[in-house]
Amino acid sequence: MKLPSRFFGSRVAGRLYLLFVLAALLPLAVSDWLAATAVTDLAREMQKNSQTRATRQVGMQVFERLTSAKALLATLPDVELAEAGAADRIRLPVASRKVFSRLVHFDANQRANWPAGSGNELLAEWRSADHGGEEAAPQALTAEAGSVQATVRIARQGDAPARILMASTVGGRLAWIGELNAEHLWEPVQDAAIDSGWRVVDGHGRSLVTKGDVDLLPAADHGATDGRADLLLVRTALFLGAEFGASEWEFIEQRAAPQARWLGLPLSGWLALVAIATVLLIALVSQRAIRHMLVPLERLTAGTRLLAAGASSTRVAVQSDDEFGTLGNAFNEMASRIEAQFGSLTAMSAIDRDVLAGQPIEHVVGRVLEQLARLYPDLPSAVCWRSAARDDVLHQLVREAGKAPATELSVLPLDAAQADAFAAIDGDSQVQGAAADAPWCGALRSPEVASLQMLPLGWGEGTQALLMVGLPAETGQLDLQPAVELRDRLAVAFSARERERVMLYRAVHDSLTGLANRSGLNEYLDRLLDADPSSRHAALFVDLDHFKDINDSLGHEAGDAILCEAAARLRASVPNGALVARQGGDEFVLVLPQVDAAIVSSIAQRVVDELVRPFVLRDEQHRFGASVGVAIYPQHGKDRIELLRHADLAMYAAKQSGRGRFELFADSLEAAAHERLRIPRELRRDMDLGKLVAYFQARVNPADGRVTSVEALVRWQHPERGLLFPDSFIALAEESSLIEDLGNWMINEACARMTLWRATHPSLQRVSVNVSPRQLASGRLPQVVREALQRHHVTAQHLELEVTESLLVEDSGDVYAQLSELRAMGVCIALDDFGTGFSSMAMLRKLPIDVMKIDRAFVKDLDTDEAALAITRSIAELAHSLGLHLVAEGIENETQARMLRELRCHEFQGYLYSKPLPPGDFSLLCSAREISARASDGVSLEAAAAPS
Ligand code: C2E
Ligand code: CA
Ligand code: CA
Repeated sequence: MKLPSRFFGSRVAGRLYLLFVLAALLPLAVSDWLAATAVTDLAREMQKNSQTRATRQVGMQVFERLTSAKALLATLPDVELAEAGAADRIRLPVASRKVFSRLVHFDANQRANWPAGSGNELLAEWRSADHGGEEAAPQALTAEAGSVQATVRIARQGDAPARILMASTVGGRLAWIGELNAEHLWEPVQDAAIDSGWRVVDGHGRSLVTKGDVDLLPAADHGATDGRADLLLVRTALFLGAEFGASEWEFIEQRAAPQARWLGLPLSGWLALVAIATVLLIALVSQRAIRHMLVPLERLTAGTRLLAAGASSTRVAVQSDDEFGTLGNAFNEMASRIEAQFGSLTAMSAIDRDVLAGQPIEHVVGRVLEQLARLYPDLPSAVCWRSAARDDVLHQLVREAGKAPATELSVLPLDAAQADAFAAIDGDSQVQGAAADAPWCGALRSPEVASLQMLPLGWGEGTQALLMVGLPAETGQLDLQPAVELRDRLAVAFSARERERVMLYRAVHDSLTGLANRSGLNEYLDRLLDADPSSRHAALFVDLDHFKDINDSLGHEAGDAILCEAAARLRASVPNGALVARQGGDEFVLVLPQVDAAIVSSIAQRVVDELVRPFVLRDEQHRFGASVGVAIYPQHGKDRIELLRHADLAMYAAKQSGRGRFELFADSLEAAAHERLRIPRELRRDMDLGKLVAYFQARVNPADGRVTSVEALVRWQHPERGLLFPDSFIALAEESSLIEDLGNWMINEACARMTLWRATHPSLQRVSVNVSPRQLASGRLPQVVREALQRHHVTAQHLELEVTESLLVEDSGDVYAQLSELRAMGVCIALDDFGTGFSSMAMLRKLPIDVMKIDRAFVKDLDTDEAALAITRSIAELAHSLGLHLVAEGIENETQARMLRELRCHEFQGYLYSKPLPPGDFSLLCSAREISARASDGVSLEAAAAPS
């Protein structure tokens, strides 16, 4: 059965309904069928029995009539009717007329002799008649003499009804033949056939007599009607063989099958009626029941849908005292719990949103108080927290009972003891009496409030904030869990604020010194220039000189300590309101707002002076000094970027011009900066074009002025600017790999020259080449040197390499290894510019060096400065004590030469003897000096020989 997919608006209902109806219909149908079948079967059985009885009875009656006919035949006289008149003596009993329609007597010759005039047709008929079946007439064969036997035969003529003939024999001789009166014989059949059909058939199945409605009884077809349900057919056989020598006859009765009826209606009709009524009743009842079930179910469904869609105020009306009522109540309970939780979640998420959006903390606190007002309308509450800026005040927001939270922030001053007491509030507790006298409790004090619920929260050390709820004497069943949850939310808000503050601080502060970092500086400067664009502001770029050395030699911890000390000194050097920032490394930037040029200079000088003072580290003094560049807004830079860049350029200029000083920005510095970009490019180009030249400066024997060795110094033949000195390009070349190529070229050039000069100037022992730290850092120097020596056939002893102190303090053990390797080859190592750098005595002892060169800076002031003399003397003593070959450079006058001679320097170098010269000139110089030395050799010899 196909139901509409939604029955009563519900699929479940449709299914239930179908189920109920089917459940009723099926057993009904089965029981109806069973009842109808049983009753019908019973009725048929009963009718069959009665029919059987009837056929048997009718058969018996017919048999009786045959028997009485036989008896009648036996009583008839058997006379020899040959004699005339004998026939007249025959008197037939009255009954015979009724039994036989015709009677004929035969004499011993088988001739009809009675009644008078009767012919032999009957005999002929007898003879052509049969027994009615296969059965013979056995009694005719076994006839005893004198006994009367009777035989029945059936005569048929065309379509006429069969006639029954009976013959009697006496002692085997035919005596009488009679035709049985059909009316009399079949009277029992006649009488029985009232509402039924009858037929009597012989052994061949041929009809003997038919009565009533027999259309459905084919004469020769046994059992043909058994298949018809509306008819009932019964047969009974009548055995005639023994008595009458005939085949058996069959009595067949047919009647309409019985039908159970009540009040004129057949049983099946009644059953169908009852079934329909039952189904209708069940349909009706189940529909009502389903409706009853479905309405609350529909309401619950709709309610659930609404609830799921977020309408948390949804309730359902299911007023029944069954499970549906219980379910409805449970639903409503759940909905109200969800509503409460939803409300709390909404409030919480509003708080979260505020926290994420970075709303001010008082805003978040206000929200918390609002939610507290919703939860506990009759209880006052307050939140107080420590000010981020000051230690001695608390901020507080209060909500009085039954009112909206205050919007005004109150500020509570605290003394030190109170501040400590606030920080010491530990854990959730309830306080009352004297314990509730603290200043932060004041706002909640009232007659209704018996005690205070304290919910503290802290994110650093000690309690930082406090949520309080005022409780009445009778709290009943007060659930404080939501308040605790709100406190936790508040803790998140506070710690987010704190974290943000720390992050902000970190973002703009240097973690080592606590000064502003690069971002802090940029932010400050942008703000300053934005707020006050019309005033002059100064930016000072400060770079510690030689700071790298301490980091390298004493480690980063020492470096950090120095940086912190430097930061403190810088802070002390600038007026209030100035910013001190660390750019990174050993670079600092000072910003002096609203200043004039004179003040800037004095502050810059103060910074230089402050940083030149020695730093004490592990009981040792260290000197650095600083180079400071100054740029003033707006004249030196119209925005932050330009201002800082120009201060940086000025600082670079201060470094270039000797360090330990400050320099004010000038436009020319910008040009120099461009230069710094241009030079490496052009140097690379010109190096490839062979524009580098080696110049040679002699080192002479202090005793006779002979050239004993020579220092190779690089020059650059610039196409436009003429001959350039190393000062203008070496430092820039050192910033890239250019210096390696340059240095390698110089080594080769020096070796090449040396090969020639060795042949011509026997006094010339060594050529010395300056080596940059970068050449050693590459690790290829020993290989380069080896190849150069081989290529130009120079022995290692004739080559000297000059390295500076800075190179040696660099931590790389690799440098030591390379120098040792070179020395092992026989190459001399000289320590150049000694005294300007940062070598410790301990380090000097370990150094793989042979030569020490006193820096020009000391030599220069030797004749004027006591300190210079003292230093030079101690350097000389050091060299002697270490057994080093001592060279003094930058000698310009005889006084210097004399003093150095006294300090027992082994070689002299300086303009006094020669400037650096092109190779040809140098060669001439060697020769000239040799000649004059020889001459003076002679003089001195002569002088020695002369008598005193
Ligand atoms: P340095 O190695 O100290 O070389 C000595 C410098 O002092 C030379 O300057 C020389 O001309 C100058 N000088 C010598 N005697 C006197 C004097 O009596 N009075 C004065 N006022 N100066 C004197 P130069 O040639 O300009 O070289 C400057 C610096 O350039 C050198 O200083 C050296 O550090 C560097 N340098 C020169 N050539 C090379 C090179 O081939 N490779 C490397 N790495 N650096 C080089
Ligand atoms: Ca040198
Ligand atoms: Ca030098």
